[in-house]
Amino acid sequence: MVKIKTGLGLDSHRFHEDPSIEKPFVLGGVHFESDLSLKGNSDADVILHAITDAISSITGNTIIGAKADELCQQGITDSREYLKLALADLEEFTISHVAIALECQQPKIDPMVEPMRISIAELLGIAFSDVGITATSGEALSDVGRGLGIHCTVILTVVSK
Ligand SMILES: [Zn+2]
Repeated sequence: MVKIKTGLGLDSHRFHEDPSIEKPFVLGGVHFESDLSLKGNSDADVILHAITDAISSITGNTIIGAKADELCQQGITDSREYLKLALADLEEFTISHVAIALECQQPKIDPMVEPMRISIAELLGIAFSDVGITATSGEALSDVGRGLGIHCTVILTVVSK
């Protein structure tokens, strides 16, 4: 019998206040041309962290936290490496769809939706059409909505092989 599971993952990171800090700004594995950068020991890719957590909520094996911190200390700050660890735990499941919802005042997400969908589809080994990305400004209702950072929510669906 085919079994379907739904994973949920959330993440947020705060922007550096100092624009002179030179840290690459990466979302969904895509580099953004921007003066913005996010705080975090790793590359602070909120999308990949939320996807990794969504997978962990299916496998029961947490990566973001102690394991990712350990990799950071070894100098591995590329969030694609954390995602790979989570994917290896999926075993008998394959990903059928991922839904990504971003909340941020900046940067403009719309022009980057297509490259991010391409990048995430490749990282997860799924079709472009199975990656959905939406974004909202947050209407200044929270610190994220006032532009202090980015929040990401991910729902990921898997089916047994
Ligand atoms: Zn994170």
